[in-house]
Parts: sequence; C-alpha cells; structure tokens
Amino acid sequence: MRELEERIRRDGVVRDGGVLKVDSFLNHQCDVALFDRMGAEWATLFKGKRVDRILTIESSGIGLACCAARHFGDVPVVFAKKAQSINLDDDLLTTTVYSFTKRREFPVIVSRRFLHQGDHVLLVDDFLANGRAMEGLIELCDKAGATVEGIAIAIEKGFQDGGGRLRRRGYDVRSLAIVTRMDAGTGTVEFA
Ligand code: 5GP
Repeated sequence: MRELEERIRRDGVVRDGGVLKVDSFLNHQCDVALFDRMGAEWATLFKGKRVDRILTIESSGIGLACCAARHFGDVPVVFAKKAQSINLDDDLLTTTVYSFTKRREFPVIVSRRFLHQGDHVLLVDDFLANGRAMEGLIELCDKAGATVEGIAIAIEKGFQDGGGRLRRRGYDVRSLAIVTRMDAGTGTVEFA
C-alpha cells in the first residue's frame, strides 16, 4: 500500500536491532483515517473469504483490528491478553508467545466465550517479524477449533523469517508494506 510505505519513509525511525519505530502514526499516536484506509485495503485483499471475527493481540493490534472490522461487516474484534501467569481455568484458551520487542516469553489468553469451534477468523497485527505473535494466535484458534482464514499485517519485515514460515505452512498472509532492508545509520527503508 503506497500510502503506508510513504508514511513509513516520512515518519518511521529505524532503530538498531532491526526495530522500526512508527509510534507517531501506528502504535502510540494513531492516525485513524489511515487505519480506516488500511482496513479497506485488507477487505479488498481478503474479498470472498468468510470472516466471523477478527483476532489480534494487545496492545498495538487493537486499533487496527477495530478499524478493519468496519470493512468486514462489523464483525467482533477479540484481542488476546498478555497475562502475568497461566491461569488453569477451563474457560480460557492459553499459550505462550516470545515477544520480539520485550525479548521474553509471556502467556497469552483468550476466553472460550469469544473464540469458538467453527469460527472463521482473520488475524490482524501491526508488525510481522519472526512470526511468534501470529503463531501464538494460530495456536489459540487451533485449540478453539476455529479456522484461520487469513493473516492481515500492516508492516512485514521481510528480512526476518516470520512471513516465510507462515506462508510455507499455507497461511494467506497479506502485508500492506513489506520492508526488505533498513539501515539505522542512514535511516533508509526499502520496500518489496
Ligand atoms: P513477531 O512475533 O512476528 O516476531 O513480532 C511481532 C510483534 O512484535 C508485533 O506484535 C509487534 O508489536 C512487535 N514488533 C516486531 N518488530 C517490530 C518493530 O520493528 N517495531 C515495532 N514497533 N514493533 C515490532
């Protein structure tokens, strides 16, 4: 999506360690009009798919998922919560996810009341790096007996292997911007 690429070039900040900072429009301050156009773009990319609900992970994915939902027939948005500890409650679907930004594992939970057997689910997130967050959400869908219809990503870092791994597993991953190379020294970002 050209508009997103241009916004990343203009306002994104490249940090050491392969981190792209986009907090002025995507995951701290939010440009909701842009989110809405991103949601419309995903709706075009996933046209014809059955989507009963959108699943994301707190916190950066929530705003994007809510804006996307308006373009998928106002389906419910569910976000997996990052928990302090795994609570062995029958009502909860649980897994653990390694966080790229926090560099540690943490439990994530979704209530069985909000993710059901037979649901057709679209996963949404702001970034795809090594794919751990999306693999965690896939596991929660598998445990629920729900089908993952697709994976909608704002920014995929194509130089990390998450997108490749998910596509090799057969998932329909659509990223609105794929960064192929970025340089913290010069601040340049290149796209696929
Ligand atoms: P993964 O699980 O695919 O390795 O990483 C994806 C998660 O880590 C996303 O939910 C996102 O919040 C965070 N993340 C990964 N790379 C970046 C990055 O370059 N910048 C920011 N702001 N977040 C990132």
